[in-house]
Amino acid sequence: MPLPQGQWPVLEKGWVWLCGAGPGDPGLLTLHALNALRQADVVIYDALVQEAILAWAPQAEHIYAGKRGGKPSAKQRDISLRLVDLAREGKRVLRLKGGDPFVFGRGGEEAQTLVQHGIPIRIIPGISAGIGGLAYAGIPVTHRDVNQSVTFVTGHDQSGNATSSLDWTAISKGSQVIVIYMGMKHIAHITAQLLAAGRPATEPVAIVTTATTEQQQVLETTLGTCVADIEAAGAEPPAIICVGRAVAMRQVLDWQGQMAGEAPRNLDPLGRGRPAESA
Ligand code: SAH
Repeated sequence: MPLPQGQWPVLEKGWVWLCGAGPGDPGLLTLHALNALRQADVVIYDALVQEAILAWAPQAEHIYAGKRGGKPSAKQRDISLRLVDLAREGKRVLRLKGGDPFVFGRGGEEAQTLVQHGIPIRIIPGISAGIGGLAYAGIPVTHRDVNQSVTFVTGHDQSGNATSSLDWTAISKGSQVIVIYMGMKHIAHITAQLLAAGRPATEPVAIVTTATTEQQQVLETTLGTCVADIEAAGAEPPAIICVGRAVAMRQVLDWQGQMAGEAPRNLDPLGRGRPAESA
């Protein structure tokens, strides 16, 4: 498949391109990512990058740098230094990360180490799971009747502990929609904090696991019941957790369900009682 005509950047020897691979579905790659895959000598990829995407770089060596939540950060430094070594060997290096490299992906740290070692870099953004994954579940991350802002949070810090620096009360009050990455391990703690901060137990929550892949599953639940429902459903990471009334829009916007023949469950899930696009 040729790239559309245009001036595509050349991945030179000794360079590292840090590139987002999107949340899973290979169709969500950017053209810059495809251009990079075509040229790389070596692709260093994360756990969340799909095999089908690597298949688009058959000429390249594929190195797995998987690292699932909570592992010590020393390994992160090893990955960064490996990138430095490969670049110094004169390789065209593609560092491929799930979603967007600068969204909870430590892309900034890797890029900083590369720059500190004098390695030239290029950053290729990707579709982050907290946006694209929710879209695949039929959940608009902003919806005019629900929210004018959205907060993306991570459920745990580098050590794997619940993120201690988050002010859940401020987030609860300030953000109608909260999108949580890496939230499954500490979901009981997170929901307890949100409830304690005054969010209603009936508030809709969606858990989207392996979003945008063929294994995607969506669990619709509420703040009050989500811990038990996750357990009962056996839902496992990777998962994006969305808290807020935007989740209710899935009742009408679950386009994948509709492709499979399901009827919309409710054409006015927010109870506006007027046409969707009236002023
Ligand atoms: N840079 C990535 C996020 C990396 S942190 C991005 O922009 O999407 C890893 C977390 O991202 C996972 O624990 C999960 O919360 C989320 N995630 C990434 N891909 C996902 C997917 N396909 N489905 C659900 N969650 C995903």
